[in-house]
Amino acid sequence: MLKGKTSLITGASRGIGKGIAEVFAKNGSNIAFTFASSVEKAKAFEEELSAKYGVKVKGYQSDASDYNAAMALADQVVADFGSIDVLINNAGITRDTLLMRMSEEQWDEVINTNLKSTFNLTKACLKTFLKNRAGSIINMSSIVGLTGNAGQSNYAASKAGMIGFTKSMAKELGSRNVRCNAIAPGFIETEMTASLDADVKKQWIDTIPLKRGGSTDDVANACLFLASDMSTYITGQTLNVCGGMVI
Ligand code: NAP
Repeated sequence: MLKGKTSLITGASRGIGKGIAEVFAKNGSNIAFTFASSVEKAKAFEEELSAKYGVKVKGYQSDASDYNAAMALADQVVADFGSIDVLINNAGITRDTLLMRMSEEQWDEVINTNLKSTFNLTKACLKTFLKNRAGSIINMSSIVGLTGNAGQSNYAASKAGMIGFTKSMAKELGSRNVRCNAIAPGFIETEMTASLDADVKKQWIDTIPLKRGGSTDDVANACLFLASDMSTYITGQTLNVCGGMVI
């Protein structure tokens, strides 16, 4: 479904990003991916993916919250791959605590890594998308951005911000055939959620109509649809991938 395309995925050394890279490579896309600190994991993944699917794969250590680094990254990816067709703003972190205890640093870290990064990378790739008169941008939000969550005011604000940004990009870029959509995953089994204790996990799962946590493949398949020509008339939307948790 993505044969010959190049996809840039932030935060793909593990978790959802890694799952997306795998499904996209399987569908013929060349993969440029970023990570923050997992140098060894990223190198191993790069080699594994290109050997398995015969596509070009390159990992870049690049802090998505850093504007200048994002600009340099997009230029480097275009130099290495020739172009960028799909951008997935997936890199994200949590620093959960009640507002009463939240430090300014915890607020800034989450907003910069989750929301500012989306501005940084989208702006960095824009020149290429406008030149190509084509592009698909997918922003990894969260259902918490729709519902809010006690103890996650920084995270929920960043994810709600991504949805507002997505809708604005759809309106700004639609006339140039550049689409922008968001995915709002619910409870997905990754390292980010592995640290939750069993009781909290059970409480989440009890509220899900499909009675299970999602897999990285569940999210990756939704991304595949939004990245591919199967969704050429879809922009500005938020697709909830949450087993029916939010309806
Ligand atoms: P994860 O397992 O913690 O992986 C996060 C990825 O982001 C890693 O590759 C990490 O790189 C990278 N990263 C972190 N900070 C970065 C930075 N400043 N610059 C570049 N890369 C950075 O997380 P996940 O569960 O896969 O989540 C992925 C996305 O989905 C996030 O945006 C998250 O908010 C969203 N989401 C997740 C869930 C869920 O249930 N898991 C639900 C809703 C939304 P390193 O390995 O180098 O640290």
